[in-house]
Amino acid sequence: MDKKLNLAHIQSRISTAAAKSNRPVTDITLVAVSKTFPVEDVVTFSNMGLMDFGENKVQELVEKSTSFRHVLPERPIRWHAIGHLQRNKVKDVLETISLFHALDSIRLANTIQDKAEEKGIELPVLVQVNVSGEDSKFGIQPHELDAFMDQIQAFRRVRVRGLMTLASPAENPEEVRPQFIQLRELSDSVKDRFVDPANPQLSMGMSSDFEVAIEEGATLVRVGSSLFGGRTYLSP
Ligand SMILES: *Cc1c(COP(=O)(O)O)cnc(C)c1O
Repeated sequence: MDKKLNLAHIQSRISTAAAKSNRPVTDITLVAVSKTFPVEDVVTFSNMGLMDFGENKVQELVEKSTSFRHVLPERPIRWHAIGHLQRNKVKDVLETISLFHALDSIRLANTIQDKAEEKGIELPVLVQVNVSGEDSKFGIQPHELDAFMDQIQAFRRVRVRGLMTLASPAENPEEVRPQFIQLRELSDSVKDRFVDPANPQLSMGMSSDFEVAIEEGATLVRVGSSLFGGRTYLSP
């Protein structure tokens, strides 16, 4: 697959979805999900101007970001940790990532707080909410969000910027529109407790459904296969 064409196509679809919903395209960040693909592909897309890359596994994120730094030490790309994170892995990614998309427990927030305190840094995070109702998905339940946001205020180094969700797999993206609407409504209901209530971040939408997500307010779309090509194994 021609990566330049893939990117041009995704960018034009992002522009169209933004225009359709009367949003400036600059409100939407394309996070290129490079999981299972080599660092050379990250270099290729960064040469085309992409600055944001997402990984869902710690070891792969650490290896790829380290390799990237060796190849292009001066280029300030941003790494996003988009998958479930075990507490004992927090220290491995804390100083590498610009945004953690999948905060899903107070225990994890507690660990991030402790490690960030030690390093004298803060970590921007999104709270993952399970709006699809599937048991297999990580994320806190919608009805728990309000209390969760209250509890999280105690962790000064955990900077909640918004919410993230993984929609159900669907043949037709219209089927998951209600899930994106629900995430936006949840965000509206708790954004007074985000660090920047004027700019709530919503990470929602992947290759199969990012246009609908943008129409419903996504500010970060996580796109993998439509950019990089099909993956040879399925990553959770
Ligand atoms: C793999 C992954 C994506 C990207 O999925 P594609 O269908 O390849 O676009 C987005 N978000 C998360 C959390 C992922 O693990």
